[in-house]
Amino acid sequence: MIEKAREILQETFGYEEFRPLQADIIQNVLQKKDSLVIMPTGGGKSICYQIPSMIFDGLTVVISPLISLMKDQVEQLEEFGVPAIYLNSSLTPEQYRENIAILRRGEAKLLYLAPETLMMDSTRELLTEFEIDCFTIDEAHCISEWGHDFRPDYRKLATVRKDFPDAVCLALTATATPRVRDDIQQILEMKDSGRFVASFDRKNLLLKVVDKENPLDQILDFLYTRPNQSGIIYCFSRRQVDELNADLRANDHSVRPYHAGLSEAARTRNQEAFIKDDVDIIVATIAFGMGINKPDVRFVIHHDMPQNIESYYQQIGRAGRDGIQADCLLLYSYSDKQKIQYFINQKEGQEKEIAKKHLDSLLDFMEYDGCRRIPLMEYFGEEYKKDNCGMCDYCLQQMGDKQDFTEQAQKFLSCVVRTNETYGAYHIADILRGSEAKKVLENKHNELSTYGIGMEWSKNQWIQLSRMLIRKGHLKKDPKHGSLVLTDEAKAVLKGESQVRGILDRTQTTSPEQAMPR
Ligand code: ADP
Ligand code: ZN
Repeated sequence: MIEKAREILQETFGYEEFRPLQADIIQNVLQKKDSLVIMPTGGGKSICYQIPSMIFDGLTVVISPLISLMKDQVEQLEEFGVPAIYLNSSLTPEQYRENIAILRRGEAKLLYLAPETLMMDSTRELLTEFEIDCFTIDEAHCISEWGHDFRPDYRKLATVRKDFPDAVCLALTATATPRVRDDIQQILEMKDSGRFVASFDRKNLLLKVVDKENPLDQILDFLYTRPNQSGIIYCFSRRQVDELNADLRANDHSVRPYHAGLSEAARTRNQEAFIKDDVDIIVATIAFGMGINKPDVRFVIHHDMPQNIESYYQQIGRAGRDGIQADCLLLYSYSDKQKIQYFINQKEGQEKEIAKKHLDSLLDFMEYDGCRRIPLMEYFGEEYKKDNCGMCDYCLQQMGDKQDFTEQAQKFLSCVVRTNETYGAYHIADILRGSEAKKVLENKHNELSTYGIGMEWSKNQWIQLSRMLIRKGHLKKDPKHGSLVLTDEAKAVLKGESQVRGILDRTQTTSPEQAMPR
């Protein structure tokens, strides 16, 4: 059966290979074994039910709280030729009736439902007409009070699930602590279910927490080294968003605000401008970001303390979706901490207890004296074993604030060797980035073993690395042609006998000593 699944992956969705865990999950679902899937956003959860839905004879029902995203998802599936429809309160009565007719004609394999639609008696009755093979619950953490987004409607799914005893249950979430995981499985009565937990480590995110001293200056310093880059700055309050937006604008930055106090039209306009690169920076409250899939967000700044680790992780997770390095800076102040404590103290009972726990784990992360990835991964039930992640403030400081670029240097240098030391840095960067530029193709450099092995970096970063390698004496630049030639030091790097460490401009910290002149 997994062979059939692979065929659909390649022929319908056009992907070469399964990502880690996807094949195991699909196999489990096809064998009608309940499964809980925990994967970070962008990890590829959707095909875990979409592919089985095309193999099952009956219908796959997908519960999702994100009404605004259902339409997009269904349209996307239509592009792939997967017959899917949705029922929710956004449809007109005619559309609603038409979709039910499609279902009755057996022309849909996937039915997306909002939880409140599912809870309606008419829907439950409608569903008894069909053979349902798979009952999928997206954003399953909404079921648990211990999650960050509890929705009472979700809790009732447990009873509805009993309407379809023959359907396998698949619960999906991007943010679940061990406690929430247990809750989901218990509430949904997922017996002997498989649990699939993908790694939550986002290796390309550079994590920094610094003391908030003069936030505007700190942010301006940070932006100074990142001209024209896309980024999001999160603030605690609407007032703070408006203030910072005005301050950044006064400093000639391309910036727009986003918060629930703006009209819907203004919010949509600002969001669109950001997505289309008409504007570099969005200053926002937590209202911003749901469903945003912009691959090249290069930084996320927290001007104020986030609500809890899950929100923080979700917010920084919007950066670097393209796999290229992105920087996450959190400005931490004691008065933010007091502000949050004040709000928590106004709560009562279990709600207060939960909020306190959330704050404690956030403080554990922010005040941790060691690699930031240790407390962050631990929160998601993962043990981080590497000695030095090389991509957080603590680990960078351990290395004298220098990052280890040995691997990238080896890639760059071997590409120089493969092209007979006759080209300049821009061309080498193009080859590493798998560019289809004319000069690359004409010289058949797309056939080199080093073609496309440097996708993790932007062209700009490779150029900066080349400058560093010249400064350090690993490369010499031919003054006439600009071509790069290896020195003996470079050969030691290629053999793995010597390391390359340094600072690329764009990863500079914002500590006051290093502040750039403006
Ligand atoms: P999630 O729901 O976990 O946030 P999605 O299911 O939306 O993630 O997938 C994220 C992206 O990854 C989508 O663009 C999807 O098409 C792509 N994707 C998923 N699985 C694969 C795969 N096996 N190979 C290549 N791309 C994939
Ligand atoms: Zn680290």
